[in-house]
Amino acid sequence: MKLPQEIQTILEKLAQKKFPAYAVGGCVRDLLLKQKPKDWDITTKAKPEQIQKIFPDSFYLNNFGTVTVKTKSKQANLKEIEITTFRTEQKYTDKRHPDKISFTDNVENDLARRDFTINALAISQADKIIDPFKGQEDLKKKILRAVGKPDDRFNEDALRMLRAIRLAVELDFKIEPKTFKAIQKNAKWLQAIAKERIRDELIKMILSAQADQTIELLKETGLLKYIIPEMEKGIGVSQNRHHVYTIYQHSILSLKFAAQRKCNLEVRLAALFHDIAKPQTKKGQGLNSTFYNHDHLGSKFTINILQRLKFPKKIIEKTALLVRNHMFVYGVDEVTEAGVRRLLRRVGRANMPDLIDLRVADRLGSGCPKAVPYKLRHLKYLIEKVSKDPISAKMLKINGHDIIKQLKIKPGPKLGLLIEALLAEVLKDPKLNTKQKLFEKAEQLNKLTDQELKNKTKKVKEKKQEIDSEIKGKYWVK
Ligand code: ATP
Ligand code: MG
Repeated sequence: MKLPQEIQTILEKLAQKKFPAYAVGGCVRDLLLKQKPKDWDITTKAKPEQIQKIFPDSFYLNNFGTVTVKTKSKQANLKEIEITTFRTEQKYTDKRHPDKISFTDNVENDLARRDFTINALAISQADKIIDPFKGQEDLKKKILRAVGKPDDRFNEDALRMLRAIRLAVELDFKIEPKTFKAIQKNAKWLQAIAKERIRDELIKMILSAQADQTIELLKETGLLKYIIPEMEKGIGVSQNRHHVYTIYQHSILSLKFAAQRKCNLEVRLAALFHDIAKPQTKKGQGLNSTFYNHDHLGSKFTINILQRLKFPKKIIEKTALLVRNHMFVYGVDEVTEAGVRRLLRRVGRANMPDLIDLRVADRLGSGCPKAVPYKLRHLKYLIEKVSKDPISAKMLKINGHDIIKQLKIKPGPKLGLLIEALLAEVLKDPKLNTKQKLFEKAEQLNKLTDQELKNKTKKVKEKKQEIDSEIKGKYWVK
C-alpha cells in the first residue's frame, strides 16, 4: 500500500523516537478501497508536548490531544496533518461530547472509540494493518457496522447515525441490520446534537453522487423528522394530471437528477425543496388539484429550514430565490422578450443558469424523458438575446424627448428613423455617443429624406441579425 511521502516521514520521525504511530481511520479505509482519502489522520503513543517537540512547526489548540503539523506539501489535503495521541473516551452524558477523554498506551484502545469497523483501522509505516474489529472483512463485504454495541455507540454520539448514512451511500455499502435498527431506535437523540454538526453532514449528503439515497435512508431510519420534518408532509400526497409521482417522490427524484448532473449545492437544495409547500397549498383532489402559491410559500419554508440548520446567509438567499422562481414560464408561445427581461430583473442574469438547471432537474424528476427540450433552448436564446440588448435606442446618450426639443419636430415616424440612424452612427463610431455630438449629428440627419435615413438604418438591422443568428446557432443545433 502506498502512503504519501509526507505521512511516511511523520510516521518515521515518531518511530525514531520510539513512539508507535499509525495512519488511522477514514484514510486507511479509503486506501484499502483504492480511493483517494479526503484527509489524513495520524495516531500515536506520543503525548501532545512530545509531538510538538518532534515537529516544531505545529500547533496544539484543543484539549483532545490533537496536534496539527504543517508540512511543505503542495497537495491541499496534506498541508496540515492532525496527529492525535492514542486515547479512550468515557461516558457521554450529553450524547455528544465525551465527559472525559484519557490517553492510553495502545492503538487498539484508540480504535475501539471509533464509530464503524471500517473506520477503526490503522496502518503502520511498515504496512502493518491493525484491525481488531474485522474492518477489512466488512470492507470486502461492503458492510457498514458499528464498532461494539451499536445502541451504545449512537447513544454516545448521535451524529454517528448521520455519518453511517452518509458513508454507506458514499461508499455504496449496506448498513448492517443491527446497526440499522439501532439508528431507528436512537433517532430521537439527534435533537441533542448541535445544528452546525448536522448541517455539515447534511451538506456532505446533498453533495454526494447518490444524494437522493441519503434522504431516503434518513426517512427510513426515522431521522428525517428531526432534520427536515417539512419533507415528511409530502409522503404519499398525490399531485394532479401533470404528475405521476407523489410530492415526496418527485422531490427525491429531482434531487437525484440534480446530483446526477453535478449541480451545485444550492440547485440540489432547491431541487429537494422546490415543492416543499405543496402539501399545504393543495386545493381539490385527484387529477384537477392545484397548488396555487406553493412557490412563494415554498421559499419561506426553505428559509425557515435552512436558517434552523444554520446555513450561511448566502446559501439560504440563493436557494430561496431559486425555489421562489421555479415556476417561470418558458413555452415558446408564452414567453416574450419583455417577459424574459422581467424574469432576468427578478432573478438576476447570473442566477439564470442555476434556475434552468433546477427546471431541468424538476422536469426529469417528473418523469419527462428529455432534459433540455426545444422550449428551454428557445428560452436560453431569448436570454442571450435580451442580454445583448444594448443595440437599442436605450444605449444612446440622448432620447426621443431630447431630439423633439432640440430639433423642434413632432413625434412620429420621422423621429423613429432619426433615432435608428443615430444608433447606426454610434455603432460605426462609439465615440459619437455624447450628448453634444449626437445633437450635432441629429441636426445633419434631419436634413435627409426619409429614404436616405432608411438607408442609413440598414446597418443596425444587419448588426441585429448578425447577433441573432450567432446566438441562434448556439441553441438551435440539437
Ligand atoms: P471522510 O471521508 O468524510 O473524511 P472519515 O470517516 O474519514 O470520512 P473524518 O471526519 O475525517 O471522517 O474522521 C476521521 C476518523 O475519525 C473516522 O474515520 C473515524 O475513525 C473517527 N471519527 C470521526 N467522527 C467520529 C465520531 N463521531 N465518532 C467516532 N469516531 C469518529
Ligand atoms: Mg477523513
